[in-house]
Amino acid sequence: MTYPTQPTASHFIDGAYVEDTTGEVIEVIYPATGEVIARVHAATPAVIEQAITSALRAQKIWSKMSGTERGRVLRRAADIIRERNHDLSVLETYDTGKPYQETSVADATSAADALEYFGGLAGSLTGEHIQLGEDWVYTRREPLGLCVGIGAWNYPTQIACWKGAPALACGNAMIFKPSEMTPLCALKVAEILVEAGAPAGIYNVVQGMGAVGTSLVTDPRVNKVSLTGSVPTGKKVYAAAAAGIKHVTMELGGKSPLVIFDDADLEDAVGGAIMGNFYSSGQVCSNGTRVFVQKGIREAFVARLAERLGNAVIGDPMDPETSFGPLVSARQLEIVQGYIAKGIAEGATLVCGGERLNLPGFWLTPAIFDNVTDDMAIAREEIFGPVLAVLEFEDEDEVIARANDTEFGLAAGVFTNDLKRAHRVIAQLEAGTCFINSYNDAPVEAPFGGVKNSGVGRENSKAAIEHYSQVKTVYVRMGKVEAPF
Ligand code: NDP
Repeated sequence: MTYPTQPTASHFIDGAYVEDTTGEVIEVIYPATGEVIARVHAATPAVIEQAITSALRAQKIWSKMSGTERGRVLRRAADIIRERNHDLSVLETYDTGKPYQETSVADATSAADALEYFGGLAGSLTGEHIQLGEDWVYTRREPLGLCVGIGAWNYPTQIACWKGAPALACGNAMIFKPSEMTPLCALKVAEILVEAGAPAGIYNVVQGMGAVGTSLVTDPRVNKVSLTGSVPTGKKVYAAAAAGIKHVTMELGGKSPLVIFDDADLEDAVGGAIMGNFYSSGQVCSNGTRVFVQKGIREAFVARLAERLGNAVIGDPMDPETSFGPLVSARQLEIVQGYIAKGIAEGATLVCGGERLNLPGFWLTPAIFDNVTDDMAIAREEIFGPVLAVLEFEDEDEVIARANDTEFGLAAGVFTNDLKRAHRVIAQLEAGTCFINSYNDAPVEAPFGGVKNSGVGRENSKAAIEHYSQVKTVYVRMGKVEAPF
């Protein structure tokens, strides 16, 4: 199988594709068919060293450029990405299996938004001036130096830019390691940045499994680590970074609550539950997978939801009509099937879906469980697949307590037509990213991130600048220095 935008080698370092075939082979599998569509090699120590030395060299040049000049490069890269949206979306579909209907509007476009937004901010990043009588203090907003980005497999292009764009805007260099399951898209981002005028080495991409991530995270020349991944990986990477007192951003997993009150607009609530559970075949960190529905509308909600799931178009992800694709891998399919079996064994009612389709590739139909209770594994653990759990509740205080009874805190949503209740409930939910009468919107202008075990730091928005820069304080004395002796 060939496609127009396939990268030509495993790594992108110092402005060019780099290959070292002695690295372990990673097969890139198209999830819709199970076919091997490419092979890359994990980075060897020599490749990692090359990536670090070139990034350090580039960062010296890049950080001396003005913010406006850096921003211009990022905005040019955004324009190129938009021009090539079709090819990049096709590549994203091959990498992840997500339908083209999604990738053509949510992946390269989101990456371009990040480059455009942070490109626009770059020229206005400043320190401050603090007058102290005659003396004064000024602060300089300085880059951190060398940042490492490590990505999950669900949004490879987006994650590469959500991390890369603010890092570069602040004058840092970045080495990005994609998930071994989706190694292709970030290479195109690196290529496009160079084409847009970024100095060679400022954004390098190296492939590999967790071990490559670990060698990057533990290298003393690395100043910051930004991970998107699961909570267990987050704990390991955070601990490794802490050993070197490095800055971190952790975008981790979730088991987010979506609370639907009986005064909500039913169609909107059902639409929100679909967007919060089945987009990208349910492989979205912020999904509202615990759907708490108030007693009075539970039956109507479940019936309408099941009816609308029947409209999902499952099939060839490249067909623009297809709205539901496969899971990313055989392993992920196995994990999700395991949870379907567990839900049934625990006594939840499987309303529909959860069936393995008799197709090559990793296909599972979208599933709804009703009569789920808080103690069931399907209500407590992140499944990361198309499995929605409906939990009934009676009143507001009860649902808030139950919604918060989790180690996670990435996102939360409320559907109600009572304006005061919406804000009152959201204020009490323990989550970093919340929605009222909507679900899973992630514009670059808004901070995105979690509380509790779901993460540390924020991506996107002006808040990300704080996580990719540091403040130097400079005290300036205008008079004589008084000393005791
Ligand atoms: P993993 O945690 O398995 O992996 C994430 C990345 O970390 C991969 O690139 C992985 O490499 C790498 N890695 C694994 N072990 C280590 C290590 N010890 N040191 C350094 N790097 C390591 O997550 P998945 O890829 O399975 O992604 C799914 C998870 O990501 C879900 O929990 C989901 O909620 C979360 N996620 C969070 C988001 C957020 O913004 N909060 C957004 C998207 C996903 P490799 O896989 O190649 O071995």
